[in-house]
Amino acid sequence: MTINIAALDGLTLPGGCDHCQAEQTIKAHAHGSRIHAVVITHDHGCPWYHGGNRAARRAAARRR
Ligand SMILES: [Zn+2]
Repeated sequence: MTINIAALDGLTLPGGCDHCQAEQTIKAHAHGSRIHAVVITHDHGCPWYHGGNRAARRAAARRR
């Protein structure tokens, strides 16, 4: 069985992060591409919001 992930393109689901109310969106790399990625959008206060770099995590830790 083949899952037609193209039909899911642009679909947004809750979740994807243990630290915030993130959303994950399924995106095609290019129009008609068979390669898809799941893009996770974090809340602004999430330590992973800026790509999870160390400075962002330190900044988030300071706010707690
Ligand atoms: Zn997050």
